Amino acid sequence: MAKEYKTLRTEIRLPYELSYGATWTRFFEGMAEKKIYGTKCGQCNRVLVPARSFCPRCFVDTTDWVEAGQQGTLTAWSYVSYRYFGMPTEPPFISALLRLEGTDVDFLHMIGGFDMSDFEQTRKVVKNGMKLRAVWKDERQGHILDIKYFEPA
Ligand SMILES: [Zn+2]
Repeated sequence: MAKEYKTLRTEIRLPYELSYGATWTRFFEGMAEKKIYGTKCGQCNRVLVPARSFCPRCFVDTTDWVEAGQQGTLTAWSYVSYRYFGMPTEPPFISALLRLEGTDVDFLHMIGGFDMSDFEQTRKVVKNGMKLRAVWKDERQGHILDIKYFEPA
């Protein structure tokens, strides 16, 4: 007969500070102005968003700044119905990848602006390829969550 062991449920916290550096500082300053900034790679011409200091494909510094569109196309999504440490908002919510107009990489954010309390109803509304637009908070502080979510356009 196998022995059963008791378990202890606990939580590990790892507080830290991250310096934004020049590129992310400018990106987050844009958030406060309702602007989504990306940077363009001079070698492959891709527009990267959020702005990055270098192209992870070409390994060259990016130097040109581009303002991304406020609308985009949904490329992938995940329905989150459980609570976890560090979650961006109360569940249920939808974590989503979208391709903003004028950019060449997917942008991670959330979808909202409609009732998503029932998953089966939600999956009838949310479809890859749907058009979405940014909904900004009235009070912004230079944070990624200055965009409340992207709603169906
Ligand atoms: Zn590149």
